[in-house]
Amino acid sequence: MSRATEGVAIRVLSERVRNQIAAGEVVERPASVVKELVENALDAGAREIVVELEAGGVDLVRVTDDGRGMGPEDLALAFVSHATSKLAEVDDLLHIGTLGFRGEALASIGSVARARILARRAADEHGWSIEDEGGRLGTVVAAGAPRGTTVEVRELFFNVPARRAFLKRTATELGRCLDVLQRLALAHVGTGFVVSHERGRVFDVEREMDLAARVRRLFGSELAAALVPVEARDGAVALSGLVAPPRFSRGDTARQMWFLNGRPLRDRVLSRCLVEAYRGFNDEKRQPVAFLSLSVPPEAVDVNVHPTKSEVRFRDERRLFPFLLGALRAAVARTDMATPGSTLVPFPRLVGRDEGRPSTPWSTARPRPEELEVREGTAQLAPERPATLPTLVPADAPAPGPILQVAATYLVREVEGGLEIVDQHALHERVTYERLKAGLRAGGIEVQRELVPELVELARSEVHALEEHLASLARLGIEIALFGPTTVAVHALPALLPRRAAPRLVRELVAVLAEGGALPGPEELLEHVVHSMACRRSVMAGDVLAPEEAEALLAAAARLDHDQTCPHGRPTRVRLSLSDLERAFHRR
Ligand code: ADP
Ligand code: MG
Repeated sequence: MSRATEGVAIRVLSERVRNQIAAGEVVERPASVVKELVENALDAGAREIVVELEAGGVDLVRVTDDGRGMGPEDLALAFVSHATSKLAEVDDLLHIGTLGFRGEALASIGSVARARILARRAADEHGWSIEDEGGRLGTVVAAGAPRGTTVEVRELFFNVPARRAFLKRTATELGRCLDVLQRLALAHVGTGFVVSHERGRVFDVEREMDLAARVRRLFGSELAAALVPVEARDGAVALSGLVAPPRFSRGDTARQMWFLNGRPLRDRVLSRCLVEAYRGFNDEKRQPVAFLSLSVPPEAVDVNVHPTKSEVRFRDERRLFPFLLGALRAAVARTDMATPGSTLVPFPRLVGRDEGRPSTPWSTARPRPEELEVREGTAQLAPERPATLPTLVPADAPAPGPILQVAATYLVREVEGGLEIVDQHALHERVTYERLKAGLRAGGIEVQRELVPELVELARSEVHALEEHLASLARLGIEIALFGPTTVAVHALPALLPRRAAPRLVRELVAVLAEGGALPGPEELLEHVVHSMACRRSVMAGDVLAPEEAEALLAAAARLDHDQTCPHGRPTRVRLSLSDLERAFHRR
């Protein structure tokens, strides 16, 4: 029998099965339960939220709030799908001011766990409770309860073994719950959070703590002290928050947080915007650390893209991004970009002392994994050339003293309070880069015209790709004309560039254009070209510098606003303070 005729039994799925299917979208793991329950508590106006977890949230997630509570009629509907007090008309979807709105979460959770709600409104004499055991809904019964709501979710996926099998180790699930909770605690200044696991306190933030105080509590005072505030407004759109200096950047995005109208979200476009704001200050493979709140009128954003609401769609991206980028970039530029020697050079005592500390997910006392990489990477620095460090004179001695070139690559000299080591190529790159940018900004870059153009052979498609950008390139002092189907003629280059750089520069440009399929905008293209010109024009590691040259380089850098990183975000200088040295020599 063929499949088509086999069964004519089309049935409408029972509510229970429907909820279990929907649960697949809303409830993936304990962390999703935590998120939904805490968001409900926030929507209910909670000032204090207590979260208790067991076995990474798999055995128990209990969220207790002091919000408005629920009456018996509310409780009867709380576990029913598409029952919500927050959205009545489809039109409301455009004006969502609450975190939840679909009325799906509790129904989904109740269908795949043993759930119970206990709630009391302020005006009621006693509370009420209701249970939902894997979709088997109980009745509302009177119960003693404090004002507010407690939702208890036990044995997640007890009735869906296939889903349960996908859960990870306790530590992993706990980690994800805590990540969600941290984000919520940072997003909701004004609400206190207490979080425990297996009855042990994991973290708490008091209601009065502002964002900076919360970051300090969660991630330590070193980061908190280095953060720079961002505050900007464009019409009804407001951006506020904190950005960290580039040296705090990490391999992951765990400390990169965006909150949209109080809702933590991971949005690719916003992350890209942040990375863009750090361009030139940050290693491009590393993720900046920032805590940012964006507030936009609800109708300017569509949060209904995905049930878990972590992605959104902005209505007016073309205005939003330049605004965000400008505000963020200005704040990033205000951070302290100096690379302290103590974070780079391994001091045996420092590491040893840290080892005894307990390791909690937010202990910043321990070196972060990416710091360890750095430490290992530069471990050679101190032991290899101890003899070349200049003798120290008292910190108040008049600077600057002589410059010592080490390995034709590093410049070492005394500075106030210690010494610094400069990477000559990185620093020169920064100087050249800033000079080229300044030239561009002033509208004129000195151009060297060639009597005989330099011809460069390219693929047909490459010539085609280049064609669209000839005008932006001309603005940069790079005048290129089409010469044949596979040839371009370079008529002029910025005077800063050697003539022989032309073929390489053109090929590099073409490679940039080919990258990732999408053509970069003119601004981005300029950035790329300026980067590569800066690199080409700069002294290299291995170039022996005359004392005057070294002097001139350091003097030129001293006049810049930003000279702590090269245009690719590598540090240009490392400082060793006297106390770093004292520690290294066990004088302290
Ligand atoms: P949604 O949040 O999308 O409305 P939920 O399934 O999460 O859907 O919750 C259903 C309804 O239950 C909410 O609209 C709200 O009225 C009520 N509710 C849930 N949690 C709480 C709480 N902690 N305090 C008060 N009311 C709550
Ligand atoms: Mg909800």
